[in-house]
Amino acid sequence: MRIFFSLALIFSLACQPAAVEKAAEKKSTAKTQKVTKEKDKMGYNKLTKEEEYVIVHKGTERAFTGNLTDNYARGIYVCRRCDTPLYRSDSKFKSNCGWPSFDDEIQGAVKRLPDADGRRVEILCNKCDGHLGHVFHGEGFTEKNTRHCVNSISMTFIPETKLERAIFASGCFWGTEYHLEKVDGVLSATSGYIGGSVKNPTYKQICSGTTGHAEAVEVFYDPAKTSYEALAKLYFETHDPSQLNRQGPDIGTQYRSEIFYLNDDQKKTAEKLIKILEDKGVKVVTKLTKAPKFWDAEAYHQNYYDLKGKKPYCHIYQKKFD
Ligand SMILES: [Zn+2]
Repeated sequence: MRIFFSLALIFSLACQPAAVEKAAEKKSTAKTQKVTKEKDKMGYNKLTKEEEYVIVHKGTERAFTGNLTDNYARGIYVCRRCDTPLYRSDSKFKSNCGWPSFDDEIQGAVKRLPDADGRRVEILCNKCDGHLGHVFHGEGFTEKNTRHCVNSISMTFIPETKLERAIFASGCFWGTEYHLEKVDGVLSATSGYIGGSVKNPTYKQICSGTTGHAEAVEVFYDPAKTSYEALAKLYFETHDPSQLNRQGPDIGTQYRSEIFYLNDDQKKTAEKLIKILEDKGVKVVTKLTKAPKFWDAEAYHQNYYDLKGKKPYCHIYQKKFD
């Protein structure tokens, strides 16, 4: 009984009145079903009052009321305000805390700041600064010992069944990512490592050239808005597929040109495009390999050019297909 009252006290201190939160929950469910989203002056999705309360004014939805707390379907959680992918379903776990819990973010997607309360660490969307919740360490829930406690209303869930995945390697991943993430319909483009012998490698390890990994980019996209063929064309048009184990000044097997296909259709599409280039006289060295596990690169490699406000030096767009 005492525990119940303590918990009730904590929740009543931390949270908003039930009526507001119930309304927030309903609105957020309705929002995910909308097809077209109205945009604000910043180009972000227009927020309802309840969304604004949490996302802009750093409020907290009432525990156990959010529509994503008990969602364990496979997919991606994107920022409600700017649609940037924040979390993968792989990192979601059951904490019984009353809010969606994740033990890791998509690298580079989440910003940490000391909370105004002087104790906790606030987490925000790295792109739009929308408030997500707080992050806690040392609770022992999972091996990563980290809990991102996120308001459901700060996110939109996109089920994996609605998305498709593609993985491309074309030299320095900063440049590959730069072009792919700008495609309408691409929800996430993540720099990482693939095709080597070490699990969860570091940048230092793959640069040694001994692990066999390629720098690559994993893309999740909405097939209703773009296609594998469109992405693969862009891939070939933004690097030189005739250079073996290098792109311009970047030399080494980590910079090789390689498509890591996820199914036979992707392989056939890649073969078709390579044939077109070969018919035009390009000596394509791009390898086609069935994709093994993709490992996210460290946070400082994500969105590199956009964060630095620079453009890629070795990934210049050049039209190659009609
Ligand atoms: Zn955002």
